[in-house]
Amino acid sequence: PRQFFVGGNFKMNGTIKSITDIIHNLNQAPLDPGTEVVIAPPGLFLLLVREHLKPEIEVCAQNVFDKPNGAFTGEISAEQLADAKIGWSLTGHSERRVVLGESDSFIASKTAAALSGGLNVIFCCGETLDQREANETIKVVTHQLAAVKEKTKDWSKIVIAYEPVWAIGTGKVATTEQAQEVHAAIRKWLAEEVSTAAADETRIIYGGSVTEKNCAELSQQADVDGFLVGGASLKPAFVDIINARQ
Ligand code: 13P
Repeated sequence: PRQFFVGGNFKMNGTIKSITDIIHNLNQAPLDPGTEVVIAPPGLFLLLVREHLKPEIEVCAQNVFDKPNGAFTGEISAEQLADAKIGWSLTGHSERRVVLGESDSFIASKTAAALSGGLNVIFCCGETLDQREANETIKVVTHQLAAVKEKTKDWSKIVIAYEPVWAIGTGKVATTEQAQEVHAAIRKWLAEEVSTAAADETRIIYGGSVTEKNCAELSQQADVDGFLVGGASLKPAFVDIINARQ
């Protein structure tokens, strides 16, 4: 059985004060010990969070560069994150694809660099509304995955987050059927393109308007192994999402 996984992506939100409050809340809340919990604050706060958050909760960068060091102003490498005891990075988030213009191949390079630098990765994929309406969802998602496969053989340190772009920050959560259908297609892709072990073992989590109200039903789906939570991860109700399966 795959361990249930809940990530919190704070995006570009928070202050020293508000993030310290979130840390204190998570440190004292009763969390399902069966759930792996990872939070991704803005880069500025990674060290603060790692220092004060209880060690059972892991800390994740929202971004990573594809080189280990050098003249790359403004960037941070996997090696630097690992040195700072930050064990994870996101890659491929739709906001970086759309707002920052990151390509499939650049995201694949970052993913490979993160893994070779010693990090675990939450790799995000998902279609836009236009792509869904054109019935291209599975094609788009498998294309995003295939770019990673070109540069990465070992998927054991990757969690795949399916995040339909139309569901992110909109309050329009995917239905349980929509989520399960795409998660099952991703698992089939893993079985065919990577290995049956990768298909069995890789956590595929859902992101996009997840709240304490809709998480329980989504978490019952056979191929939904957890969540990547944006807005609700900044609120006390994040604890209820971590405990969705209790
Ligand atoms: P929301 O939960 O705010 O819709 O954001 C989802 C997301 O993008 C997580 O990475």
